[in-house]
Amino acid sequence: MLTQELTDKYQLVVGLEVHAQLATSSKLFAGDATNFGAQANTQVSVITLGHPGTLPKLNMRALEFAVRMGLACESQISRKSSFDRKNYFYPDLPKGYQITQDKEPICVGGNVILTLEDGTEREIRLNRIHLEEDAGKLIHSPEREESWVDYNRAGTALIELVTEPCLRSSEEAVIFLAEIRKMVMYLGICDGNMEEGSLRCDANVSVRLQGSETLGKKVEIKNMNSFRNLGRAIDFEYERQVGLLEVGQDIVSETRTFDGDRGVTASMRTKEELNDYRYFPEPDLPPVILTEEWIQNVKAELPALPRALYHKFRKVYGLPRYDAALLTETKEVASWFESLSAQTVHYKAASNWMMGPIKSYLNESGSTYSNFPLTVEAIAQLIALAEEGKVSFSVASQKIFPELLRHPDVTPLSIAQDLNLIQESDGSFLLPLAKEVLLENPGKVAEYRTGKKGLLGYFMGELMKKSQGKADPKVATQLITELLAN
Ligand code: ADP
Ligand code: MG
Repeated sequence: MLTQELTDKYQLVVGLEVHAQLATSSKLFAGDATNFGAQANTQVSVITLGHPGTLPKLNMRALEFAVRMGLACESQISRKSSFDRKNYFYPDLPKGYQITQDKEPICVGGNVILTLEDGTEREIRLNRIHLEEDAGKLIHSPEREESWVDYNRAGTALIELVTEPCLRSSEEAVIFLAEIRKMVMYLGICDGNMEEGSLRCDANVSVRLQGSETLGKKVEIKNMNSFRNLGRAIDFEYERQVGLLEVGQDIVSETRTFDGDRGVTASMRTKEELNDYRYFPEPDLPPVILTEEWIQNVKAELPALPRALYHKFRKVYGLPRYDAALLTETKEVASWFESLSAQTVHYKAASNWMMGPIKSYLNESGSTYSNFPLTVEAIAQLIALAEEGKVSFSVASQKIFPELLRHPDVTPLSIAQDLNLIQESDGSFLLPLAKEVLLENPGKVAEYRTGKKGLLGYFMGELMKKSQGKADPKVATQLITELLAN
């Protein structure tokens, strides 16, 4: 950990490059399938392999997906964009070059707004979003001293989203990546699966004296595929660079990898060894020209985005920050909450039900809202029973809800009636039971009367048992307190 003095002295500067694999069923320039986990080298055509005489053809769906993201980030959508070849040799790159966008990316500029832990907002500026193809995968077997190559992923469509160097902490970087993940999933353009590598991130890290206008020399940390490792790698790198500057050493511009087991970054290659990619315009692909109408059509079909819904949940439904954040994690949960809110006025209770009993049920049964057996109407009725004091929340969640799950066609009210669960607020029903409780516990009654007022909870518990959970807590408390006072 850096001392306060050193963090006051040096500012951390981070720029991120996020790759999101587009959820198109075929590749960026070929018809090959893109299923994850297919047998190696079964989704590879001559186009993907760059055989002479083959020609790439742009996947319009991928283009549309990139534009969706650009519109969601308020980027400028290029009316004309084009592709370039980035040349280098590596065994996972069958053509010897990657088709990407260098000079004229599909989306220019833009911003992503983050809500930080304390509720404040930060605008992160984007440099660009461009389309490019992915490389294949190398699989190394140290035991057999062999490496294999699987070209299934080669040619798969990616967007690369590049931020300006305007992130200032590892927390901001992690929240940024989480926001991007939410956005691409809401937009339906990427499955957001970080374990399978559908979303991965390079972090560019530098430090400079606080107040300095010029940027320090940056180090690029490659391919992190978890939030935790992104945060750890940035923190490690901040400390390492400050440590070097403090003893008068220079930062070497280089590419490093993060070793998650050891929690350290290690050098891969320095700038001097960096490839000269010799970008040049891809001669086999014409420039992409977009009409205003086409862009407007894409725009018209954009769904509500997580941040807009977050604000709506805060303002319209009056939810606390925590609830609003949790309920907008995924589009599925957010839309279920919206449907439920159309059936009830008890918004906070609706949120509690979704974050509590319903969530536990979904987790335990391994289901999602798409196959949740109950309708929003049924849950709204259940909420009403509890909110109107006909049953307690615990009876509603522990007795009626499980029964309702077994009999989704029956209404919550008739379950409550059949199981005789409607709360008794009738004193004449509760009074004899309350008297019994006191008679059965003379010792505790005496203790209460000599000042151990905490025993009230015990008596209440006993009365609840006797009434089989049906005592209205307000009436019951009043009854017992009165009896004990005599
Ligand atoms: P390169 O030419 O090395 O690819 P770019 O200018 O294209 O660098 O930037 C790549 C990424 O690195 C961007 O996300 C950018 O914000 C970030 N970046 C650039 N300079 C710095 C710096 N000094 N410190 C931190 N991040 C930086
Ligand atoms: Mg660059």
